[in-house]
Amino acid sequence: MHFKTIIEPFRIKAVEPIRFTTREQRAAALIAADYNLFKLRAEDVLLDLLTDSGTGAMSAQQWAGMMQGDESYAGARSFFKFEAAVRKVTGLRHIIPTHQGRAAERILFSTACTAGQIVPNNTHFDTTRANLEALGVRAVDLRCPEATQPSLVAPFKGNIDLAALDRCLTEHAGRVPFAMITVTNNSGGGQPVALANIREASALCKKHGVPLILDCCRFAENAWFIKQREPGQSHRTPADIAREMFSYADGCTMSAKKDGLVNMGGFLALNDDALAAKCRNNLILTEGFPTYGGLAGYDLEALAVGLKEVLDEHYLEYRVRSVAYLGDKLTAAGVPIVQPPGGHAIYIDARAMLPHVPQSEFPAWALSCALYVEGGVRSVEIGSVMFGRQPDGTEKPAAMELVRLAFPRRVYTQSHVDYLAEVLLYVHSQRDRIRGVKLVEAPPLLRHFTAKLAPAHDELLTS
Ligand SMILES: *Cc1c(COP(=O)(O)O)cnc(C)c1O
Repeated sequence: MHFKTIIEPFRIKAVEPIRFTTREQRAAALIAADYNLFKLRAEDVLLDLLTDSGTGAMSAQQWAGMMQGDESYAGARSFFKFEAAVRKVTGLRHIIPTHQGRAAERILFSTACTAGQIVPNNTHFDTTRANLEALGVRAVDLRCPEATQPSLVAPFKGNIDLAALDRCLTEHAGRVPFAMITVTNNSGGGQPVALANIREASALCKKHGVPLILDCCRFAENAWFIKQREPGQSHRTPADIAREMFSYADGCTMSAKKDGLVNMGGFLALNDDALAAKCRNNLILTEGFPTYGGLAGYDLEALAVGLKEVLDEHYLEYRVRSVAYLGDKLTAAGVPIVQPPGGHAIYIDARAMLPHVPQSEFPAWALSCALYVEGGVRSVEIGSVMFGRQPDGTEKPAAMELVRLAFPRRVYTQSHVDYLAEVLLYVHSQRDRIRGVKLVEAPPLLRHFTAKLAPAHDELLTS
């Protein structure tokens, strides 16, 4: 007998209550937070979909592992467990722990890059771009053509544009320290990259003598999509597919707050002996000794277990399905989202949903505020508040106005998702009432974190 319902592949041993608020309380909280969801107290949020980074639930095995943490300064037993776990997944030679993904980026980039160089990627994540630009390196995004059409359904919208990569490596020969591929493509809607695309990108890099680095934060979700969607891959395990993905790379940077299933941690892994030695020296300056790299022994234990659990097929099936489940409900109700649903998040196309709100009044930001007031749901704007300000201080509307609903790992159940869908459908039915917002005060860089906003007209929702 084959039953078709995909269930949460765990039962719950410890519960954390969530706090219910009234609509009036949330409207007041939003005003107190200057219409900026980053400034809310988390206690005032019912379902928190701000990010999937470090917000997951650990397993009983991980908590048990933490009690075995060896807190020795150098050569701790926990380091060797961690190192073996990362090597098993990646096959890479040198494994360097860091406190999170951006530390791995900073250490690799400041060791391997110099000002005036160019680094191509399918799409640079914001910390990746910022760490390169801080060194005077140009971060170039080479998305495949399908990636820029939100409503287009295609299996691998995370792919790097191979022809553009070849051109970039030819044109800038000698000025590219390495190329990168981000799996899955977070800034591009959580879309996966095909195994064939990584293989061909790797071959191009070899031809040009340039190393390939994977930004591998969601390597397990990417491997699952390959198993589901790429011809000839369905019989393989996610671990086997992941190992092949890494075999095409010379190194990787990882935020273990995603597919490491931990609340804090990351690593840098490299094959090049000389580069790894330099990175370790750089690590000692800011992160710590190479066998702990800014993490406690117990963090390394939890990560070693997490890397094993994340490749479990029942976990990955549930994970990707729970996001697609919401996507299906929204699509059926006519709510415009980036298609197909990503591995870790649903992205609502706010420009399509609120055509009456001009881009200068930040439709995605306004929509995320409305979702909070009506349903206590916290999402994040990925639009013109986040990306509109140019380095020269001028404003340019973002390419897309998206509201991202990111799913923490193993935290919410199907009834939470059902509630979420109900909130989204209700707000969609009330969309004509939603008005735009305006910036009142904003810092020049990364303004979305701290900006103050207010309704552009009398109120956020007309009555
Ligand atoms: C989260 C993330 C990073 C940065 O990792 P942190 O742990 O937040 O420092 C880098 N790249 C991608 C694709 C990410 O999603």
